[in-house]
Amino acid sequence: MDRILDAVARMVGAPLHKPAVPLELPADQRNIVLIDTSSFRKLSNAIIGCQVCSPFAITPVSRILDHFKRPSVPETYYMMERAARCPRCSRPVTEETLVETNVE
Ligand SMILES: [Zn+2]
Repeated sequence: MDRILDAVARMVGAPLHKPAVPLELPADQRNIVLIDTSSFRKLSNAIIGCQVCSPFAITPVSRILDHFKRPSVPETYYMMERAARCPRCSRPVTEETLVETNVE
């Protein structure tokens, strides 16, 4: 686990030993991935609509992020520095939002 944290910390250029958000699981059972700018951009391009404005919004944002990051650990949590925006209705889109996507 320390090795994963170190790798992520190198990727984002900041230590991740103290996540800013409270999480349910103990730290050693979590795999936290910080979404960097390029993944954030890819995510924004992959979103067509959100659960508010699209009847086809059935994919959690975290599943799209799995595509980009290909996690080796099943319980992966993502942290976005800021919320993405739905391109159709401009509502904020977070890790848990269901979206319509062009991925898959
Ligand atoms: Zn929307």
